Amino acid sequence: MPEELTGVPAAPGAVAGPAKHMTEAITDLGPKTAPEDAEAETNAAREALKEVETLLEKRSAEASSKEVADILDAQAMMTSDIVLWDLVVAAIGEGLPATHAVAKAFGSFKASLEAIGGYTAERAGDLDDVSARVVAVLMGSPMPGLPESSEPYVLVAKDLAPADTSQLNPAMVLALVTREGGPTSHTAIIARSLAIPAVVACPQAKEISEGETVVVDGDRGVVVRSPDRSTLEDVAQRAEWLAKALAASQGPGHTSDGHAVPLLVNIGGAKDAESATDSEGVGLFRTEFLFLDSSEEPTVEEQTEAYREVFDAFSGRKVVLRTLDAGADKPLRWLDLGTEMNPALGVRGLRTSRVQPEVLEHQLEAVARAARDTTAEVWVMAPMVSTVSEARDFVTLAHDHGLPKAGVMVEVPALALRAADVAKVVDFFSIGTNDLSQYVSASDRTIGALSDLLDHWQPALIGLIRSIVEGANAASVPVGVCGESASDPLFALVLVGLGVSTLSMSAAGLPLVRASLSAHSRDDCRTMAELALTSADPQSARKSVAEAGHIPIGR
Ligand code: PEP
Ligand code: MG
Repeated sequence: MPEELTGVPAAPGAVAGPAKHMTEAITDLGPKTAPEDAEAETNAAREALKEVETLLEKRSAEASSKEVADILDAQAMMTSDIVLWDLVVAAIGEGLPATHAVAKAFGSFKASLEAIGGYTAERAGDLDDVSARVVAVLMGSPMPGLPESSEPYVLVAKDLAPADTSQLNPAMVLALVTREGGPTSHTAIIARSLAIPAVVACPQAKEISEGETVVVDGDRGVVVRSPDRSTLEDVAQRAEWLAKALAASQGPGHTSDGHAVPLLVNIGGAKDAESATDSEGVGLFRTEFLFLDSSEEPTVEEQTEAYREVFDAFSGRKVVLRTLDAGADKPLRWLDLGTEMNPALGVRGLRTSRVQPEVLEHQLEAVARAARDTTAEVWVMAPMVSTVSEARDFVTLAHDHGLPKAGVMVEVPALALRAADVAKVVDFFSIGTNDLSQYVSASDRTIGALSDLLDHWQPALIGLIRSIVEGANAASVPVGVCGESASDPLFALVLVGLGVSTLSMSAAGLPLVRASLSAHSRDDCRTMAELALTSADPQSARKSVAEAGHIPIGR
């Protein structure tokens, strides 16, 4: 009998194959007895750190993307960090053997990074992976990482570290299943960029035997053990459809009856243009990503240059630039907001202009200068807007700087609830479903364990999107969606049915969304939107929309 293990869908598609588990970190570090020769122990620790550094540098050199190479370089640098080394030597000096000393030193180093918060804290998790590798070298055991295999396999893991994902060969790894992680985790992002199905947050995956055939259904977020013949046939048909649909997916986005739905990309800088050649422009340019590492406010000239580079990369196309969304999960060192108990509810996004209004002035000046000599069609919008007056003030300021199209992100429920009034003072809306679902459900978007509440199929979120669109329609204001929900090929149909006019997502999501749209008419989309709106919960919403659709996804 087939048995379904439930997880969270993280990358679409379905595939069958033999499961292979990742080699996990050693948890038993051996006895804690004091070493007889502390110097020999220190030397062993030094050599193990060096060996891991060399390996990480090699993997960085072989990495397929700059993002992965940067993460690996940062990990390699951790192995030769002087503070870390002093902690190792001190722990051995206290009488610990090298394995325990390394684990202790990495533990304290991680705690100090976590205390800094934001992106630095997120990177602290990468230290666990480095520490586990050093310990494995010291114990003469295989390093945690990918299994050896001569045939393609489904990779099952607790979660994936950047060093592992950089090694993934899409020709060998058919799908990913992790026990931890959420839909926005590293695993999910990598799976989408490799176009392989993924299911995350599936704790029962631990029970899967080595070599056992499983079906990974990344549309529904389930793993099927002991699949029967009809399940395997269904998977084969879906895989065939997917391959054909992706191959045929080209050109501007539209429904089967010709209703245009421009498909745009979310970017953090000009380098992202390389993977976005088939997009119709940029729906979200996250400008804070350009200045994460700066220690002081970039000058107007520096900003102008950075924006110009992006506009040039998308010349002739639309670029929706978002003003700095500093604070909470994206702290900027040079925009000091003080310590806050709840940064996600604090002075972030447009709110930073309450404390440092000149930063927004400078940014709009730079955008206006860069927009003057480009053929890109530049629109600007502000993040974390809560009231009509905030929206009006921002739009007025942008217009005063000579930027004709100014709008707001709709990601705070208070703004969404007043959409009809807000629409009278803006040129456009862009719904940020990542934050909107976080604030509607009062669930921190970075916590994988809350992914069911953050699910974009939650009827409360869908109902709110409908009322935003209705409010916007009354004032003939266009509404786009730029949260990750737009990259869900079924949800994209619901959004179009609700009246959303453009969809913006990470570039990897475009082909499948384009294929999904072209297989459905606008009326199909409206029917699906109605089904989603009248469903009791996310599961039944997704299921009823999938069943009403013409593509073999999510059924
Ligand atoms: C969003 O909140 O949906 C969004 C697109 O912005 P970000 O993810 O950068 O907060
Ligand atoms: Mg947001």
